[in-house]
Amino acid sequence: MISGPSGVGKGTIKEALLQKLQDIKLSISATTRSMREGEMEGRDYFYLSHEEFTTKLENDEFLEYAPVYSNMYGTPKKYVMDNIQRGYDVLLEIDIQGALKVKEKMPEGVFIFIQPPSIEALVQRINGRGKDSPESIQTRLAACQEEMAMVIHYDYLVINDELDEAMNKVQSIIIAERCRVKNNY
Ligand code: ADP
Ligand code: 5GP
Repeated sequence: MISGPSGVGKGTIKEALLQKLQDIKLSISATTRSMREGEMEGRDYFYLSHEEFTTKLENDEFLEYAPVYSNMYGTPKKYVMDNIQRGYDVLLEIDIQGALKVKEKMPEGVFIFIQPPSIEALVQRINGRGKDSPESIQTRLAACQEEMAMVIHYDYLVINDELDEAMNKVQSIIIAERCRVKNNY
């Protein structure tokens, strides 16, 4: 599971990981937020109306869900459980509230926190991405201070300064976890 403040580079690291590692499945979340330019239904998210999201929630279809910046986000339970049973590692890229809820249900999961090298770098990245409104950028930055303090609940901390280095660290964590004796017997 990878989490961290918005704009830190989780999506970028995730894409690179999926290219490099075998036997890893990406969990696609559901969200009520509207699609950004360049995104695709079923690849980036399942885009739902508030009503559709609520129905799935009532049917207990989410492993976790959380309101993030005034939209709802949720991890579809069936996909994650089916793939874990088949022996795959499942990668979740979700916010910190969601990650902590998953930790309660699945303490054996591996929780990786991605941190920016500085707040200035984070601001530059969010602005550079050019896909968020000024209000949404402000909300994301305001949340960031509190979010950073949650790192203590995670197993690993990776600072995303040089992308290749951060990516190699996340990859190494996954490889090392796969070698743990308890994960092989
Ligand atoms: P998140 O998924 O955490 O919201 P993104 O992956 O969308 O963040 O990254 C936000 C922006 O920062 C993107 O424009 C991305 O290209 C850029 N970025 C990601 N990692 C780095 C890095 N190590 N150095 C510089 N820019 C980066
Ligand atoms: P964005 O709108 O930038 O794609 O994502 C905003 C935030 O929502 C990010 O921190 C992202 O990790 C988080 N997020 C994405 N999917 C989920 C999910 O299924 N559950 C939770 N709790 N957060 C999610």
